[in-house]
Amino acid sequence: MPKNSTQIVHSFSALSEAKNQLDLLELQLLKRRLKTTESASKVRPVIQGRELKAFCSNDYLGLANHPLIIDALIRGAQQYGAGSGASHLISGHSEIHAALEQFLAHTQKLSIPNARALFFSTGYLANLCAITGFARLGKLKEGSGRINIYSAKLNHASLIDGVKLAAAQTGAQIFLFDHRNLNELESQLNQEKKRFSDAHQLIVIDGVFSMDGDIAPITKLVELANQFDALLMVDDAHGFGVLGKHGSGLLELEKIQSERIVYIGTLSKAAGISGAFVCADAHLIEWLVQKGRPYIYSTATPPAIANALMQSVEIIQGKEGQARRAHLGELIHLWKSEVRFKKWQLSESNTPIQVLILGSNEDALEASRRLDQAGFWIPAIRPPTVPKDSARLRITFSAEHSKEDVLELVKALHLIEEGIILK
Ligand SMILES: *Cc1c(COP(=O)(O)O)cnc(C)c1O
Repeated sequence: MPKNSTQIVHSFSALSEAKNQLDLLELQLLKRRLKTTESASKVRPVIQGRELKAFCSNDYLGLANHPLIIDALIRGAQQYGAGSGASHLISGHSEIHAALEQFLAHTQKLSIPNARALFFSTGYLANLCAITGFARLGKLKEGSGRINIYSAKLNHASLIDGVKLAAAQTGAQIFLFDHRNLNELESQLNQEKKRFSDAHQLIVIDGVFSMDGDIAPITKLVELANQFDALLMVDDAHGFGVLGKHGSGLLELEKIQSERIVYIGTLSKAAGISGAFVCADAHLIEWLVQKGRPYIYSTATPPAIANALMQSVEIIQGKEGQARRAHLGELIHLWKSEVRFKKWQLSESNTPIQVLILGSNEDALEASRRLDQAGFWIPAIRPPTVPKDSARLRITFSAEHSKEDVLELVKALHLIEEGIILK
């Protein structure tokens, strides 16, 4: 070590600003912390030598550790190698990617006529590609060239970022609406139709709202999309694998059929691995292949992942998937029938995402800390992930949980609520 090293003050403006901002986050109780796990992502992970009961993963069906899927990943790597080598349009598109895309399109074929699917490495990337790609179709229109994007206020960050990027690239106008009151969206659409009759319209929405667990009013949205000639983009990250008899997601559950739907499913949650797909009419998908920048300029996912996903989607669609969804449904039912809070508010949800709104960051952090002391892992979710003053505990169930696990959690939460009220 140089002799004087401790005396040298390294400082430049970005560094000191970063330190200031981090101190500020700490003061506002908004600093997030990484928790490092030492075991596989199961319902009982080990953290710093302690086994916790986790109710915070999105591995809803418990497939992340399924032996057949692990085996398919290994066999996939042996057959196709560890990496894809290039983007899809250069040389990275393997036969297993193509087979997976066909299989994924097949899952939506009853809902989307002439369905084709495009596989992405993450849901975030899929959303950026679909929103920017389809917004750019508006530029080709004759006339005013007006592009309007209607986005639900509580949409996932990746949709919000996709919408902002699309607006920056195309000059699209952004309208935010409350998905629980579609009158707002309808009047925005009406007003815009009067002003720009040939505007290119996109509606963007979560299928299952990730921080509340409620489901988008999809039937009404399809009606509005038809009435106002809009493309309807549905991000079903938390629905694919979970909803519908075959786990095909929200469109299967609600028996939707529409050629103007763009369906986005992620494969990192219920499917237990990683990746995502965009499914729509084959012409729309071909447009993304030609012009979707996040698709074109990113390396294809390792083919071994696609091989493992084939196995995962097969399980999701078959008898085993049905049995896992049935068990998950029983756990949600048990939770809802046992849990009673005095002050905390349980959000309206029939999905594996069950949310307790506590309000202040302080209360949410305190509840999360006490849960940790009792052996449970449920992080506090704070702004900007959720609106201000609505910090919460986001509890997620997995088919790997037992009924006893759920009852133990209910008991612990009742005691903690009591303690925090009395505090
Ligand atoms: C998790 C999530 C994504 C992002 O998917 P990744 O595959 O994790 O990148 C997109 N949309 C919603 C609603 C999500 O919950």
